[in-house]
Amino acid sequence: MRIVLLGAPGSGKGTQSQRLVERVGIPQISTGDLLRAAVAKGTELGRQAKEAMDSGRLVEDSLVLGMIRERLGEPDARRGFILDGFPRNLAQAHALDRLLATLKQPLDAVVQLEVDSRELVRRISGRRSCADCGRVFNLLTSPPSGANAVCPKTGVPHRLVQRPDDNEATVTERLRVYDEKTHPLIDFYRARGLLQVIDAEGDVDDVTARLAQALHAPALRSPRRRPARKSAARAKGSRRKAAKKTRAARKPSRRAAAKVARPRRPAGAAARHGKAPRATRSARRRKGARR
Ligand SMILES: [Zn+2]
Repeated sequence: MRIVLLGAPGSGKGTQSQRLVERVGIPQISTGDLLRAAVAKGTELGRQAKEAMDSGRLVEDSLVLGMIRERLGEPDARRGFILDGFPRNLAQAHALDRLLATLKQPLDAVVQLEVDSRELVRRISGRRSCADCGRVFNLLTSPPSGANAVCPKTGVPHRLVQRPDDNEATVTERLRVYDEKTHPLIDFYRARGLLQVIDAEGDVDDVTARLAQALHAPALRSPRRRPARKSAARAKGSRRKAAKKTRAARKPSRRAAAKVARPRRPAGAAARHGKAPRATRSARRRKGARR
């Protein structure tokens, strides 16, 4: 499964990528990581990239593509990959297309995680980190609580601060720039019939379920080596059904109740119900047999 995941900051792309890595068993190929690794290892491409970065130039697409090509040759990428951070613009999308065509490994899907921009602003503006221990929280989705409420560094509650570029005005601008850059990419992949747009709002498990459906990857729905679990909403539904069943089991069924009640019920009552109780019918049959 060869995919590109597109999603604005705050869209939950990181979480969903991680689940793909863990549950489908394909590597996430981040061009940022590739660059850092190549520079650290001192490969030929890494050396050239470092030269560009040291002289304040952008790393050329051809270098990044070279690193992607090398990375795709590694055994763990044989079953597929999630490309992260590339392509970022139309020129890169074309270049990637050519590379993957040469390698005979064309993309299977490009998934866009769609979240309303107001919701993105809300999510990102909720981010806080502790000035003392550096732990990251989100006031909306993962506030400090329980064992995490106390700072391991100071022994008192974390001292939460907001990153200057996580304030609403800056986030709105960052999202606008992201949209502007991504639009041509989205159009490009839509025209090729590769684009899948996923509603990425709401429960994280529900988003994963939608992603699994779009990618025809049932394994993605549930963590590995665990019985298949339905999406949270459906699970809730079946929990409700199960509860109903339990209640039904505790409350004797009408037939069982009738069985218990029947011997005490006078014949007249049975007649009023329009049919004779089974006990009486079988008793009659037995009588008949005896006759
Ligand atoms: Zn702390």
